[in-house]
This record gives sequence, structure tokens and C-alpha cells, in this order.
Amino acid sequence: MKRKVCLWLVCAMLFTCFGGLISQEARGYVAIGEEEPQEGSESEISKEPLQQEESTLLPPKVVWSFGVSLTALYARENKLVNRQNLLPEDFVPSDLVKMTVKRATSAAVYMERMAAEALEEMFNAAKEEGYTLYLKSGYRSFGTQKTTYDNRLRNNDGKDDGVVAYPGSSEHQTGLACDILNADYAGRPRMTTDFSETAEAQWMKENCASFGFILRYPQDKMEITGIIFEPWHFRYVGKDVAGYIMRNELTLEEFTDQWQMAVAEFRGQGGDIDEQIAYELEKSQKGPESYVMEIYGEDGDAEVSLSF
Ligand SMILES: [Zn+2]
Repeated sequence: MKRKVCLWLVCAMLFTCFGGLISQEARGYVAIGEEEPQEGSESEISKEPLQQEESTLLPPKVVWSFGVSLTALYARENKLVNRQNLLPEDFVPSDLVKMTVKRATSAAVYMERMAAEALEEMFNAAKEEGYTLYLKSGYRSFGTQKTTYDNRLRNNDGKDDGVVAYPGSSEHQTGLACDILNADYAGRPRMTTDFSETAEAQWMKENCASFGFILRYPQDKMEITGIIFEPWHFRYVGKDVAGYIMRNELTLEEFTDQWQMAVAEFRGQGGDIDEQIAYELEKSQKGPESYVMEIYGEDGDAEVSLSF
């Protein structure tokens, strides 16, 4: 009888110990306060992630240190299109959608879906700050571009003056580029570079990157782009790339040179593009390598900070 009671006691003790552990694991985090109450501390850390067991997320040996991930760099929206990098005559974007934002033309305008959605967000954000934007044009087929180019050449003694892009070199054929104006310029027969002085053009230049767009043909860069300054022409490249380009005041040509040199260097050191992209993908699925700590200041205001 005595032995039976002892056995029950041992069982109960084991259950209490392991049961506690299991319930902590099931929650996904351990509340630090439960283990070590920190009295008199200014901040109170509410939770901390458990250490991951047997994590397969090991960074590749050669570190990719360029400011933009390889995933973003190899994304199709980052493709360079210009006179040296022509699109095939039969290239048509795979997911064109009809634009419903305010337009500066009676014709229907189409854009590639990801750019279309980002553009709508940008138009709404501009509106909230008091700027009304008008979409003048989006996707343009190879055929339309060729007709426009041929007309320009005819009216300019057969000389290419960089005003109309050579067929196959126009970003409008990608469905990722668009021309945007304000109310005043929307009603004019021609787009002129003094549009850059308007509040709408300045707002777009300052804010376009937040929506994944770049000012594609900046001032004083015609030697590089082959295209005159176009304060109305924006190109979707995705937020990471756009942020880098606009921050560093680059053209897509200069940016492409930079990251391709970085890739060459990375490969030279033994880096593996596929391995790095797979690592970035896995990392993004696991979420950022950080966690939120809630910190309560002395004034009682709740603040949130990220810990890396
Ligand atoms: Zn354009």
C-alpha cells in the first residue's frame, strides 16, 4: 500500500513538471516575467520567442551585401528596357488590367496588374494630400510605338531626338510604365518638361518610391537613358528597388550596372545565386529575424521597438 502511494506521488510530480513545459511550448513563447520577475525595471519585456530547434535557416557562406535582395533584383518588374535592351516585337504583358483611376485621355488605359494596383494606391495617397493625378497613358503595343516613332522621325527630318522611344525600347510595352499629369497639363495637347515645377510632379518624385515607382528619365541623365527629361513618366520596379534608386538618384541603367557588378563579384567569391534566392525566400516565409518587445515608458505611453 505504501509503495502504491509513493508511485502515485512520483507520477504526479512528473506530470506537473512536463505538463508545465508542454504548455509553455504550445504557446510559442515563454513569458520572461514568469521565470524571473524584474522588479524596479523601467521597461517590461512581455514576450520572447523560443529558440528554434534544428533551424535549417543558415545564411549562405558568401554574404550578399548589396542593398537590395537578389529576389527583388531578378524579379521581372526590375527588367531593364532601353535601346540596347529591346523587347521582342511580339512581347505582350501577361496580366494587363483596365485602369479605373482618373485619366487624362478618353481612351482606355491598361497596365500590368502589379503596377496597376500600386498606381491606384499612389493616386489615392496623392488625393489624400490634396493632389489630383491624371493617368495619360500606360501599356502601349509594339505596333503603336512603331507608328508613333515613325511619325516623329518624319516630322523631325528623319532624326531620332529622344522624344519618342525606338520600337521595342519603350517601357510602355512592358505594361509597367505610365505617364501621369495634373489637371492643368492633362488638358494640354503636349507634355512639356516644365510640368516638373508643379506641386503634383514634385509630390510624385518625392513619394513614388513608397509605391514601387521610379522617375525613370530624370533631368540631366539623357546621355545615360537616351531619353529626354520626362517628369511625367514613372516605371514600376517594386518597392525595394525603387527605394534604392530614388535614394541614390540613379537611372535604371546605372542601377542595373551596379547590381550586375555586385553579382559578378558575389559569384567570383563563390556565391551561389540560386542558394541565396532560396535563403531569402525561406527567410521571408519565416518572417523577420526580430521580435516585438512592448516597452512601457515612465509616462505610461506604450511604445513598441524591434529587437534584432
Ligand atoms: Zn512615358
